[in-house]
Amino acid sequence: MNNPYLLLTPGPLTTTDTVRLAMMKDWCTWDDDYNNIVQGVRQKLVNLATKSVEKYSAVLMQGSGTFTVESVIGTVLPEDGKLLVIANGVYGHRIAKISNKLGINTVVLESGEVEGLDLNRLTNQLENDPDITHVAIVHCETTTGMLNPIEKVSKIVKTYNKIYIVDAMSSLGGVELDIDDLQIDYIISSANKCIEGVPGFGFAIVKTEEFEKCQDNARSISLDLYDQWKTMEEQNGKWRFTSPTHVVRAFAQALKELEEEGGVSQRAARYKNNQKTLSEGMKQLGFEPILSEDLQSPIITSFYYPKTENFEFVVFYNKLKEKGFVIYPGKVLDLDTFRIGNIGDVRQHNIELLLKAIEESRYWLSPVFEESQSK
Ligand SMILES: *Cc1c(COP(=O)(O)O)cnc(C)c1O
Repeated sequence: MNNPYLLLTPGPLTTTDTVRLAMMKDWCTWDDDYNNIVQGVRQKLVNLATKSVEKYSAVLMQGSGTFTVESVIGTVLPEDGKLLVIANGVYGHRIAKISNKLGINTVVLESGEVEGLDLNRLTNQLENDPDITHVAIVHCETTTGMLNPIEKVSKIVKTYNKIYIVDAMSSLGGVELDIDDLQIDYIISSANKCIEGVPGFGFAIVKTEEFEKCQDNARSISLDLYDQWKTMEEQNGKWRFTSPTHVVRAFAQALKELEEEGGVSQRAARYKNNQKTLSEGMKQLGFEPILSEDLQSPIITSFYYPKTENFEFVVFYNKLKEKGFVIYPGKVLDLDTFRIGNIGDVRQHNIELLLKAIEESRYWLSPVFEESQSK
């Protein structure tokens, strides 16, 4: 059962043996046993996201996380709706791209990838453009590792009475939040991030009162989130089309293990500790994170390339892989960066071993780097 290496990526990520074992049988897709598991998963997702469980409902959607983002945007925006997307990284821009492709009237509030969000600009935009009906933002912008201030944004969005959509793909389950306190109407995540399942489906947790109004909006059959939800609601957890049965079983096990760990607060504490260990250790080795600490998420950290002339990410990557760690290339527009994730079945000792491997790897980095290290 040994994994060839530890994934320090933001999903798919390292899962437990027990989560993977849950997939070792072939399960029927429509019988009661299975549908009851689906219903249990849906209820647990709501419980995990809010205390106000009666106001929300969870709906699962086949595909990777982006499929669920597309199904939410395409289903909740009415024909005459207008979406404002707050974008400060690849995932924010992807929401805008989806919305434009679907022919939805879309405006983008672009914010720098490494600076904090300017909330006054959001207020101005909502003040000056009353046609806007919905606002979307990414919670943890996984491309940089920035945690966007969804609570402050919510206050402004709700002052102007807009529907609030949050892509919390890489934070739900790993960062404490309550979607009712945050007045979030739609929150999106997927199986293979902080809940630590394997990839194969995403999900949205929807405010039922709002979602009930979305029956005729969908611009797609397979990504019609409303139809998917109605079918699950009315037919005890039935998926409309072939469901990822093995992945759902693994996810149910992952949710059980999240509970056993002590719930989201304990998992969040583990991730925070991982990130702190990583960030402090890397700084000691001379690596600089691209974000200031107040913007940094506990999920994934971007570092500048070290200031050596011949640092090559591929070499660095391959050496670490040989030593049993897979890290991630950067995704920030104009900067040379790489990323290290710390979610998944990853604990402090794993991070300490990674730091040791990076330290030991000095000999294959350039002499210039060694010099700067020995100061
Ligand atoms: C992972 C992720 C997604 C979805 O990516 P997929 O590759 O489609 O699973 C969307 N938004 C954020 C913030 C993510 O981290």
